[in-house]
Amino acid sequence: MTITELRKKFVEGSYTPTQAVEDYLAVINERDEDIHAFLEVYDDVRAAAEAATERYAKEGDAAPALLGMPIAVKNNILIKGKKATAASKMLENYTASYDATVIERMKKEGALFIGATNLDEFAMGASTENSAFGVTKNPHDTARVPGGSSGGSAAAVAMGAAVAALGTDTGGSVRQPAGFCGVVGYKPTYGAVSRYGLIAMGSSLDQAGVLSNSVADAETIFNAIAGNDPMDATTIQEDTYKLAPKKETYRIGVPRDFLGEGVDPDVMAVFEESIAALKAAGHEVVDVSLPLMKKGLAAYYIVMPGEVSSNLARYDGVRYGLHVDGANLLDDYLKTRAEGFGAEVKRRILLGTYVLSAGYYDAYYGKAEMAREMMRDELAEAYKDVDIIMTPTSPTPAFKIGEKSNPLSMYLADIFTVPINLTGVPAISIPTGTVERDGKQLPVGVQYIAPHGGDARLFDFGKRVYDNK
Ligand code: GLN
Repeated sequence: MTITELRKKFVEGSYTPTQAVEDYLAVINERDEDIHAFLEVYDDVRAAAEAATERYAKEGDAAPALLGMPIAVKNNILIKGKKATAASKMLENYTASYDATVIERMKKEGALFIGATNLDEFAMGASTENSAFGVTKNPHDTARVPGGSSGGSAAAVAMGAAVAALGTDTGGSVRQPAGFCGVVGYKPTYGAVSRYGLIAMGSSLDQAGVLSNSVADAETIFNAIAGNDPMDATTIQEDTYKLAPKKETYRIGVPRDFLGEGVDPDVMAVFEESIAALKAAGHEVVDVSLPLMKKGLAAYYIVMPGEVSSNLARYDGVRYGLHVDGANLLDDYLKTRAEGFGAEVKRRILLGTYVLSAGYYDAYYGKAEMAREMMRDELAEAYKDVDIIMTPTSPTPAFKIGEKSNPLSMYLADIFTVPINLTGVPAISIPTGTVERDGKQLPVGVQYIAPHGGDARLFDFGKRVYDNK
């Protein structure tokens, strides 16, 4: 069910938040031992649901937009009084002392939090296999990954364990698992949503995003969480950037030169079908040239580790999180970090420290930032001709657990999603057909990208092509 459908029933009184929570908890009981989407199921959700049920009886349609909606939350987003582990041994016993702005805003709108979802450690990965607390499985085929790093959130929505979920997206972590699990995944314009209370990965790339069963639901949650926040200086004032939603039919660009050869033929076939369907619905689809987008992956794997190495310096065994006793202070640091971080996190800290070092800064980090600026210009140029740009969300459907043991092959899963974070524009992954593997139908996502501030445009377009098709 969608938030829109639940809302109608809650207001009518034909179904209540109490019943909904019981139904979602039943799904978790039945399936999550196998899927492992959740790191924790919140025991206070029942009491909160009771209170929401009573409020609907009194307030009816005047109740706030998210009242009684059971939402799953990626465990790198702080909820006061709950554990925020980032799926790392470093923060295994860390309890959040405040609410992230996105949580505070959803609480104000009456949302219920049903549980904390699994992720790649500190959101580094594309499969949720990097979690320190075990892998999450794809509900469509449990031999396969749900994608990542918001794999727990995507699996939770796909298996019907929550009406929607919050994730974070630094290079694709909302859109890619949404694509693999067959749900909608939304990454807002950078700065549209506050990062305050998100456990930082790459601060110039990170955004909170939404995983949901419809585009309208993503919009409802976005409207609740978006907006300027004095606690995050990178948030922007809505009226200074919002693009108005557009017209009945759209002009959509396909960057053929960027799609290249690396896309699985079955995924490409689904993508071509979606183009045909758009044309049949009266939209115009044209080729656009974005030669620089290919450089996105290379630039991302310089900028992101640089920022990771800086952000993760705070886990020193002194302030919070894990502490391992050593012979002296330096030894405390070394032992704590050696024990607390997993292999992928260490790899990125090493890489990041290297690209930021005095001798190599200009050659790597400086160059990557320049490439990023040029990609922004290239996109802005393309948007003079088209309203929206589309690509497959990922080059392949969900891969098998253990299949990508080489980190570089895993990084290639992000080829179409990372340029979006580098350039700060909004994008949405929409479930679009399936491909068959081992006798199972695996979902495929198509990514639609709007210019900076074009969030409303994406929602308008997405509702036309997905919700109301
Ligand atoms: N898969 C990408 C990475 O490993 C993206 C992660 C993310 O968006 N948090 O960095």
